[in-house]
Amino acid sequence: RSKAGGRNCMTFYEASMQSSAMQRLTLIADLRRALPERQFVLYFQPIVCLSDGAIAKAEALLRWHRPGTGLTLPDQFIVVAEDSGIIHELGDWVFDQAASMAVRWTAMLGQDFQVTINRSPIQFQPNAPGLDWVAHLRARGLDPACINVEITEGVLLNLSDDVQTQLDTLSAAGVDLAIDDFGTGYSSMSYLKRLDIDYLKIDKSFIAGLGTDVTSTTITETIIVMAHKLGLKVIAEGVESAVQRDWLVKHGCDFAQGFLFSYPLPAKDFEARLTGEVPWSERLFENSGET
Ligand code: C2E
Ligand code: MG
Ligand code: MG
Ligand code: MG
Repeated sequence: RSKAGGRNCMTFYEASMQSSAMQRLTLIADLRRALPERQFVLYFQPIVCLSDGAIAKAEALLRWHRPGTGLTLPDQFIVVAEDSGIIHELGDWVFDQAASMAVRWTAMLGQDFQVTINRSPIQFQPNAPGLDWVAHLRARGLDPACINVEITEGVLLNLSDDVQTQLDTLSAAGVDLAIDDFGTGYSSMSYLKRLDIDYLKIDKSFIAGLGTDVTSTTITETIIVMAHKLGLKVIAEGVESAVQRDWLVKHGCDFAQGFLFSYPLPAKDFEARLTGEVPWSERLFENSGET
């Protein structure tokens, strides 16, 4: 409370600071309850192989049925989950669930089906309290090759020996690694020399401009060429139109993900399409499939 404002005269600035601090505390309290009360749910979005149209894998995307608010997207809570440390337990829950689905769908299809998981930079901090993912998979009798791990360039900024060891342990066990939102981070690309990266995911901001914005188009084309010369595969994120898809096919992009193919879906809706029970063309609007 500022002196200049006098008693009983909180400035608008202070009032809004207080209410946003309150909202944050409420959010943290709600997040802590959410895991034991089973309010989190994973949605799955297909990743399509552009050479044959097959559904190659799926990305697990976190959703929260927040009481009083409804279905809540990660942008509304991941940062607070990270700052409060909740991300360790939450990220391990995502991992365990996603691995279970990968194994289930592999068995159902009779061929490998990988689920890709977003792992927060916080989960890579030294002495982070989370699970050892490789040991956990082995303990459950699951093949580490059933999952891919997506990391952002933020994890690789000033790549430490410790983070390098963690990533090497994952890739040595057979977990494929992908760089998410590629092209938007601040890190140098020297990590590509030090790590066994399998996929670059081109950020959706570049895909949005394909064919219309010269800079986005040039960047996308250059990433594809560079990745292929380095022996990496490319996944285009945020593909929304047939024009974008056709451009990507023509320029040899390996995989695509986006609303053109499917919104992220609850597991049962995803599974019904994966097994052919429901056609992919029967589209659900995002977040309509409440479980
Ligand atoms: P991301 O990993 O880059 O995930 C892709 C985001 O793009 C998802 O947003 C997805 O719904 C959205 N998307 C997919 N196709 C399209 C499209 O055609 N157009 C547009 N405009 N968007 C599309 P979502 O699910 O809201 O997730 C946002 C971010 O939250 C993710 O970005 C990821 O960074 C983070 N996130 C999601 N789940 C987890 C998780 O389990 N753990 C962690 N640490 N982060 C997560
Ligand atoms: Mg991702
Ligand atoms: Mg590998
Ligand atoms: Mg992304």
